[in-house]
Amino acid sequence: MIRVAILGATGSIGTSALSVAEAHPDRVRVVGLAAATSAEALAPAVRAHRPTAVSMATDQALARLAAAADLPAAQGVGDAGLVMLATRPDVDLVLCASSGTAALEAVLAAIDAGKAIALANKEVLVMAGGLVMDRARAKGVAILPVDSEHNAIHQCLHGHATQHVKRLILTASGGPFRGRTRASLAAVTPADALRHPTWQMGPKITVDSATLMNKGLEVIEAHWLFGVTSSQIDVVVHPQSIVHSLVEFTDGSMLAQLGTTDMRLPIQYAFSYPDRWHTPVPHLDLARAGTLEFHPPAWDEFPCLRLAFRALDADRSLPIVLNAANEVAVASFLAGQLGFTAIADVIAATMDAHRATPVETLPAVRAVDAWAKAHALELVRVESEKR
Ligand code: MG
Repeated sequence: MIRVAILGATGSIGTSALSVAEAHPDRVRVVGLAAATSAEALAPAVRAHRPTAVSMATDQALARLAAAADLPAAQGVGDAGLVMLATRPDVDLVLCASSGTAALEAVLAAIDAGKAIALANKEVLVMAGGLVMDRARAKGVAILPVDSEHNAIHQCLHGHATQHVKRLILTASGGPFRGRTRASLAAVTPADALRHPTWQMGPKITVDSATLMNKGLEVIEAHWLFGVTSSQIDVVVHPQSIVHSLVEFTDGSMLAQLGTTDMRLPIQYAFSYPDRWHTPVPHLDLARAGTLEFHPPAWDEFPCLRLAFRALDADRSLPIVLNAANEVAVASFLAGQLGFTAIADVIAATMDAHRATPVETLPAVRAVDAWAKAHALELVRVESEKR
């Protein structure tokens, strides 16, 4: 029996994780549940799983949760609530599925407490990959990737020596605007960007998929998770999203992981690892999958991917700037204050204005994050006045 705390329990990963737990009541016990403000959405999970601790982002949200479900004695609020939830003695594994950067402190605290981490939030590694991986190594704690591409690579690498790895190849669906010219993308709306062809996800990551920034963040994530340099990471566009990623070895052999596009599979893998369990998710039928295509990414049409490689190759603070400026630009695009192609412009201009600094502590990470968000917000303000 694995005892799990879920940070971000009402998002798409969180609800998929609850469904994995419900499919395996004899193997998974949900002991902690945290959400931001969606108290009404969390209440049914609290009633069904009877966790020993809950946490919400605000006192008001916690009060609404208390009105909708009987709560356990251990209740938390805000960042401190996430830390409390992630470090409790009855937790074996923390699934970090909250969006944005709020969970970073909780993940570091969970590692210090010796908890295994199932990581679905890529910002944690993009902002503080060095800090997180150093501490995980020191504590002997496993970081299990839930992101489908990294989960695929984790599976392909199993049993292989690092020195035999030539390249990691991340697959990208290409998003809803694959094949479009940059000029034709200037006028696309949030509704257009939120129509992802193969995956059902939250709005931030869906826009990131449309700009290819999601793949860029995944390149940085892969660097930290698997200890490879940027020259050992490649991206290939694969519109069918059936091959979830590949590893090329020094002898030219490639291993790929294939499956249906259902996040319950990588979540369950993280819960069961190194074991494998039966799943109620329909298995892949190769004969029905049809033709699988692979194309090079359109670097010039989707500049965010190149920006991510640039950030990874530079000093450690630049990925934090990339991530923070992207968060601001995507939120502004979704609010109708910024055009689609201006997302990459705002990120590039914020990166250009940044003087790289070493980042060895959490406060240093937060300081760079705050600077980049303020700078990007100012750029968005100037840009929205022009619109
Ligand atoms: Mg992914």
